[in-house]
Amino acid sequence: MNQVTIIGSGVMGKGIAYSCAISGYKVYLNDLNEEILQHAKTAIDRLLDGSFEKGFLKEANYISAKENLHYEVDLETAAKDSQLVIEAVLEKMDLKIDIFKKLDKICGAETVLATNTSTMSPTEIGAQTSRPNKVVAMHFFNPVHKMKLIEIIRGLETSDETVQFVKEVASQLNKEAVEVNEFPGFVTSRMNCLIGNEAMNMLMEGVASAKDIDKAMKLGLNHPMGPLELADLVGLDTRLRNMEYLYETLGEKYRPCPLLVKYVKAGRLGKKSGSGFYEYT
Ligand code: NAD
Repeated sequence: MNQVTIIGSGVMGKGIAYSCAISGYKVYLNDLNEEILQHAKTAIDRLLDGSFEKGFLKEANYISAKENLHYEVDLETAAKDSQLVIEAVLEKMDLKIDIFKKLDKICGAETVLATNTSTMSPTEIGAQTSRPNKVVAMHFFNPVHKMKLIEIIRGLETSDETVQFVKEVASQLNKEAVEVNEFPGFVTSRMNCLIGNEAMNMLMEGVASAKDIDKAMKLGLNHPMGPLELADLVGLDTRLRNMEYLYETLGEKYRPCPLLVKYVKAGRLGKKSGSGFYEYT
C-alpha cells in the first residue's frame, strides 16, 4: 500500500493523517470545505513542526511527511487511487453509510474501506456496499500521535485478508492492534463510556468536584487521565453520540448522564470549544 485517504479532518482525522504521513504513506485528507481543511493543515503543520523541533522526527522524515499530505475537498479526487480509505466523520450512522456508498462507487474493487467509529457496526455499514468483505473498523485513539492502540473490529462479512491488511497497516504506523468481534462499543468504548458516564453522574450528584473525581481516578486507580478530562478531550458531543448509541443497543446501563446532555445543549463541547467540565483558555 502507498496511498491512504482520510475522510473528515476533525479531532481524529487530523491525527490519523499525521500518523499516516510520517509513516511514509501518501495521504489525501478530505472534508466539507476549504476552510475546514485549512484549519486542519495549520494544526497538522504545527504538530509536524513540534515533533521535528523536539527531535522526534528526523529532517528527511519531516520533509517527506509534508510532501505526503494533500488536502482535497473533492471526494472522488481524494479517494479514487487509494488502497485504503479511513472514514472519520461524525458518529452518525446515516452519514457514514452515505459516505461508504459513494466510496464504493469511486474506489477500485480492491480498496479496503475502514471506519474509525467508536461504537457502531461495520457489518451494517458494509452491508450497504458491494464489498462487505472489505469493510472493517479501525478504531484509533485520541491523541492519535501518542496513543499506541488500534482496535480492529471485524464485521460479520469482513474477510481474513482484510483483517490481515489493516493489521499490517497498524504495524507500519507503529501501533499495536487488538482484534475484536463486532459488538456495540467494542472493548474500549463500552468500558470507557461507562466509566465516564459514572463520573458525570457523581459530579451531578455532588459526590466530589470534577478535579477531585479525576484526581481520585489518576492517583488512586492509576488512570493516566481522569474520566472527565478525557471526556473533554474526546468532545462532549461525540461522547453523547457514543452514549446514545450504546443506550439504544445495550440498554439502561448506558443512559447518557443528564449533565452531559445539558452541557452539549449549552455548547460546552470540551476542549475543542474552550469549555466542558473544565475551562480552556
Ligand atoms: P469531529 O467532530 O472532530 O470531526 C468530524 C469531521 O468530519 C469534521 O471536520 C466535519 O467537517 C467532517 N465531516 C462531516 N461530514 C463530512 C462529509 N460528508 N465529508 C467529509 N467530512 C465530513 O469528530 P471526531 O472526534 O474526529 O470523531 C470522528 C469519528 O471518530 C467519530 O466516529 C468518533 O466516534 C470517532 N472517534 C472519536 C474519538 C475522539 O476522541 N474524539 C476517538 C476515537 C474515535
